[in-house]
Order: sequence, then C-alpha cells, then structure tokens
Amino acid sequence: MAARKFFVGGNWKMNGDKATIDGIVGFLNASNGNPNVDIVVAPPAPYLASVKAALQHNIKVAAQNAYKVPKGAFTGEISPAMLKDLGLEWVILGHSERRHVFGETDALIADKTVHALESGLQVVFCIGEKLEEREAGKTKEVNFRQLQAIVDKKVDFSKIVIAYEPVWAIGTGKTASPEQAQEVHAWIREFLKEKVSDAVSASTRVIYGGSVTADNAAELAKKPDIDGFLVGGASLKPDFVKIINARN
Ligand code: PEP
Repeated sequence: MAARKFFVGGNWKMNGDKATIDGIVGFLNASNGNPNVDIVVAPPAPYLASVKAALQHNIKVAAQNAYKVPKGAFTGEISPAMLKDLGLEWVILGHSERRHVFGETDALIADKTVHALESGLQVVFCIGEKLEEREAGKTKEVNFRQLQAIVDKKVDFSKIVIAYEPVWAIGTGKTASPEQAQEVHAWIREFLKEKVSDAVSASTRVIYGGSVTADNAAELAKKPDIDGFLVGGASLKPDFVKIINARN
C-alpha cells in the first residue's frame, strides 16, 4: 500500500480582494510548492478562475462548496460541472460553516458529495463535533454519523480526503492538542475499517483543521494518523508555506 501523501488545504473562506489575492498567489508561487505534499487552496468563488490561471500547476485550486445538480434554477449556487469547466479538480464539502451557519444537513452534504464525485471532482469532506457535543461525550457519535452519510452512498473513498475539524477549534485559536486530534483520527480509521474496508482505512487521508498555525503544525504532523491539514486563517499569510512544509 502506497504511503498516504501529505495534504495541505487552504480555505480562504469569504476573504480577500484582487490585491490581497495577488499577494497570496505570489508567496505560494515563490514557495515552488513541495513535491511531497498535495497543496490545494480554496479561494472565494469569484476568484477561482483567476487564481487557477495564476498559480503554478503543482498548486491546485478547490471551490469551497458546490450544489448537488449540474445546472438549473438554483440562484446563487455553483455546480461541479462549472468547476470542471474551469479545470478545477477539488471541492470542499460539509465545512462546519456550511453545516452550522447555513444549515446544511448530513443528507444534503452526502448528495453533494455523490454528485461532485460523479462529475469528476475530488472532495475534501469535512466533519467535526461542536464543543457541547464533545463535552457531552458525543465526539465519536457525531463524527461517525457525519461519515455514515457518505458511507451509505457507497462513495469512492480514493477520491475523498476527510478533514476532521472540531468546530470548537475553527477560527478560535484553540487548536486540538496533537493527542486529541490523533485520538479522533484513529477512531475515523477504525470506523472506515469496520464500515468500508481495511484498504480504505489504510489509504484514506485524514487531515486536521482548526486553528492550525506555523507554530503548532509540526507537532500535529508527527502523529501517525494525521495526514495533513485544512487551514483557514493562517492560509492567508506567508506562514502558510511553513505549514505546507511542516512534515519536512
Ligand atoms: C477552516 O476554515 O477549515 C479552518 C480550520 O479555519 P481556521 O484554521 O481559521 O481555524
């Protein structure tokens, strides 16, 4: 079984303008990427095409969301077909802000995942518990429920990266400790082993997200079941390059 290639995603959320995005593209290109790392950045939708055109080809571009059908009367939405048309390869689905700010359900996110995969995109599939769920001892239950929604659809896990992003750690400056993150990543791998297969459990990349910075990335990256990061705030700054290289 091939080793799981380190994966670092940058989720720019609803941030940036032409000038600041030029700056981000500039420091990313200057870094030359890293042949041992899959690097995928997710600009806001209006900038997808220009960022794709400006970035070196070894740095890929993802959308932050996409709807569950190819086209039609769905004002405000974008489709996987459109992303493919732009030459994109990735989409982030199930981000906690989509789940908890915009009320996306497990069922909708599963439908979107199936459609994105059918359309030829790869998916960064985000899961994670809220603080009150963790405090109520429901961390495993919540993450497993969110994963079960796509297991039930018999998705092709070779096209999926799972991002474990505890909601209490996203944008809060409260990173999960390497031990806390490793514990959940190991549970996710056990879940995949039981519900899907040994091969999928061993080969699927499970990345961590939640206040990752250049200062904490190296320690997190040492854990055996942490295969990379999904980075929000810190992906807008030149230090993102240190996170990309955290394992080297
Ligand atoms: C995210 O948006 O996926 C995220 C993890 O954000 P931050 O790194 O800012 O916590």
